[in-house]
Order: sequence, then structure tokens, then C-alpha cells
Amino acid sequence: MEIIAPKGTKDVLSNNAYKWQYIESEWAKICSEYGFKELRTPVFEATELFSRGVGDTTDIVQKEMYTFNDLGGRSITLKPEGTSPAVRAFIESNQYAQTQPTKYYYNTPCFRYEKPQEGRLREFHQFGIENFGTHSMLADAEVITLGYDFLNRMGIRDIELHISSVGCRKCRPLHRTALQDFLRPKLDCLCDTCKSRFDKNPMRILDCKSKEDQALVKGAPMMLDFLCDDCRNDFEQLKKHLDAVGIKYVVDPTIVRGLDYYTKTAFEFITTLLGAQGTVCGGGRYDHLIEEIGGPDMPGVGFGLGKERLISLMEKSGHDFGGDTDPQIFIAWIGDDAREYSFTLLHELRTAGIRAEMDTRERNLKGQMKYANKLRAAYTVVIGDDEVATGELTLKNMSNSEQTKVRREELTDAI
Ligand code: ATP
Ligand code: MG
Repeated sequence: MEIIAPKGTKDVLSNNAYKWQYIESEWAKICSEYGFKELRTPVFEATELFSRGVGDTTDIVQKEMYTFNDLGGRSITLKPEGTSPAVRAFIESNQYAQTQPTKYYYNTPCFRYEKPQEGRLREFHQFGIENFGTHSMLADAEVITLGYDFLNRMGIRDIELHISSVGCRKCRPLHRTALQDFLRPKLDCLCDTCKSRFDKNPMRILDCKSKEDQALVKGAPMMLDFLCDDCRNDFEQLKKHLDAVGIKYVVDPTIVRGLDYYTKTAFEFITTLLGAQGTVCGGGRYDHLIEEIGGPDMPGVGFGLGKERLISLMEKSGHDFGGDTDPQIFIAWIGDDAREYSFTLLHELRTAGIRAEMDTRERNLKGQMKYANKLRAAYTVVIGDDEVATGELTLKNMSNSEQTKVRREELTDAI
């Protein structure tokens, strides 16, 4: 039997792991600068959390969840997204009773049973932030600004911020009626999933991935034209805040986010460099989610950012992911005394924070030098009886073969 990784999953092999480490440390850094604190939640949750939290008319809940019964007969789901678990933890820890807002960030695997393709996996990874407990558009602007700054720091330029408003419980029903009137004559031609959404959540039909349905919904009435005064004012306020920090955006009335409980702000960072999977980061406001999951009536706003898509984009733009991970120095040796001397020196250098390496297979000198080349060591030093006796070492720069004499005590500084 040949065992291979499950379809839609990917190993991060050791020649790529430094890229992940780089974005993860930069992510933690920017979040702390913005005052978000890390939250870690389990990989699996009670299924009901997602049917309530994501919404049972969404693609995620209708077709994409990894759901199973555990041995105790509970229905369990591998988390398809990070917001609902964050809300659950917020409620369960009584954090809602503390001073608000609560600002969380997370870094998590997500699982969705999708058709695997470039930029679309069954196990993928997300960064996300959430701000719970404020209605102010300053929170929405802060969330968007963090996303913008982070993508900018990651060297991504070919990206557009699209923003919209999906309204609130007051104005949505008007749009819904207009949308149903528009869709009713086309209902027979829509896909089965969309037919089932017509009564419960017709706005979701605008987000259908089927080409036929996308053509049918062209020209549909847009939520932006139906906003109540409150939602329109908030949308204007958001734009003002973004203008104040010089963030460029495109108002895009076609954005419909993947969750049912989004209200008001919806946004996506979109690139043309990743083909059809162009959304790197998406988020918005969800003023009823916390209540829906069983907490108090409290608003929230946040986003999710796909790490795989981020990394491909950084690779396309030639990012160096924090630079070199190759050894700074390789120590080669000849003879038993030199071997012990080298092992001690290796330990000293590493203790001083230098990436130092030697051959633990004990090859002969020629083999060791070949290995040093293979590892792309920046410098090499060869230790023999003379070096052991005098402490006088010869440091060789591997890129130009230049040799310099250094005392053992000065080696750390020389590198
Ligand atoms: P899409 O429209 O591409 O399906 P989505 O709206 O389902 O995205 P979200 O639920 O908003 O995505 O998730 C946030 C981010 O996570 C996305 O912008 C994307 O970068 C990433 N993402 C979502 N699904 C996948 C997946 N199956 N594989 C890899 N990355 C994904
Ligand atoms: Mg999706």
C-alpha cells in the first residue's frame, strides 16, 4: 500500500518552512503593535457552533465542512474558519463582562471540503483578527489598516482593497424584496443550491461560484443602493477614516462575504496575480454574531487572511522572507584532536548566536568540503593539528575564495 498525504493537504517541507516562520513572526509583531492579543482555540468544535456562527445557507456549512460523530456520539466539526471559535471563547471565558473592546488575533489551520486547485486546499491556514464590543467605524478602519499595513510590509504591491456595506437588519429586507423580484423570473435556471437560498438568504445567490448563475445575476439590485441613513453614514465615516491614513480603496457593491451574520462593512484585498483565487484577505462587521452564538448583544469586526495565498504572492513578488538560513560558517576537521576541538568551537559559535555547522557523518576532508558547498555555507574553516596547537585559524569566504587569518577568540566577531 502506498500511503500519501490526503487530497487537498500539503506538507511544509524544511526548504520552505522558513517562509512560514517569517510571516508568522511578522504577523505576531504587527498584531502586538496594533494592540491585538493572541487567542488559540481547538482544531475541532461542536458542529452547531458553525451552523449557527457561519450560517446554514453558506457554501461552507452546506457543502464544505469536515463533520463526524466522535466515539461519544457528539457531532464534531474541524474548524472551517476562525471567527466563530473566537466568539465562542469570548463568551465562554466571560470576557464580554470586561472592559471593551476585546482585540484578538489568531493563526490557525482551517478545513474545508473543497475542490483542490491552485490556492484552494482542504487544509489551509489563516491569520485573523477580531475586535469585539464596539459599533464605531474606527474599529473597522483599524482592522482594515492592519491588513493593509501587513500586506504592505510583506512587500505586496499588486493588490486592491475593495469595500462595501451589506446593510443592517433595518435596510436589508428592502433589498431582499427587490432582489427576489429580480431573481424570481430566473429562478428555474439557477443551480439547486441557489434555488434553496431564494427564500432564506437570496443575497447569498450573488456569491455563487457557478458561471451560469453569475451571468444570471448580472444587473441585480445592489445593497449599496438600499442603505438606511445609519448604514450610509457609517459607510461614509469608514471611507473618511481610510482617507485620513491614505489607504486607497475601490467601492465594490458586488462583495458578499461568506458568513450570514455580516452587517455593514464588508471588504476584500484582491490581487490579479493568483488567477481565480485572487482574494488574499476578507472580512467585515458582524453585529449579531455574538448574540447568535449565545452571548450578549455585542458587535464585532474582523478579517481572515489566507497564509498559502499570501506566501505565493510573496514568492511571485520576489520576497526574501527574512533572508538567509544557510550556515554562516562550516567547520571542517582532520584528525581526532581536531574533531573534539571543532565540536567545542561549533558549540561556542552556536552559543554566540551564529549559524554554525559541521559534518556529523564524519566524512573525509574532501567529503566535508563538498558537504559545506551543498549547505551553501558562507565561510569555512579547516581545523588540523596546527590549528589546535596555535589557535590560529584560516577563514575562507566561499563566495570569492578569499582567505583571512583570525585568532580563535576573534572568530565570532570576524563572522
Ligand atoms: P473564496 O472566495 O476564495 O472561496 P472565502 O470567501 O471562502 O474565499 P474566507 O472564508 O473569507 O474565504 O477566508 C479568508 C481567506 O482564507 C481567503 O481570503 C483566502 O485567502 C483563504 N482561503 C479560503 N478558503 C481557502 C482554501 N480552501 N484554500 C486556501 N486558502 C483559502
Ligand atoms: Mg470559499
